[in-house]
Formats: sequence, C-alpha cells, structure tokens
Amino acid sequence: MLVFICRNQCVKCGFEFSPLSAHTRVQKDHIVPIYLGGSDGIENLQPLCIRCNTKKTRDTTDYRPQFLKDALLGGEIVVVPFEFANV
Ligand SMILES: [Zn+2]
Repeated sequence: MLVFICRNQCVKCGFEFSPLSAHTRVQKDHIVPIYLGGSDGIENLQPLCIRCNTKKTRDTTDYRPQFLKDALLGGEIVVVPFEFANV
C-alpha cells in the first residue's frame, strides 16, 4: 500500500503515531471521500489520527503540508516505515 511520509504525525493535529499501539496507528483518510467521487490514489490520501478521522465526516479539507503536495506534484513517492491501517 502506498503511504506518505509525514514525520509520523497526523497532518491535522500533529499527533504522533506509534507503530506499537493499534489505537495510535495512522488512518488512511480520503480527502474527497470515495462516496463523493474521490479516488483511492495517493493524490487523494492523507494520514490522520483516529480522532481526527472520526470527527472529519464530510469535511474535504486537505491538511497535507506543502512539502508533501510538492513531492506528489513532482512525481516523488515517499514511504513511511509502517502502513496505514485499513479504515
Ligand atoms: Zn489528528
């Protein structure tokens, strides 16, 4: 699965993920939800903590930092040392 490098943090609140705890694992958030026509591609994904992802509902805000958007626009694919949890 493709994943982003985001300093192991939730891009919304800055919460630091731990690969050791299921409750603090990163969640794969679709910026534009699939049911609203969003894609499942890396350009539509951002890492959120479970609290932010649960509260997000229909919010389509892109919380990704600029360096990540630039990397995606430049065609660079970057990977974090753990996978997104399935949501
Ligand atoms: Zn968060």
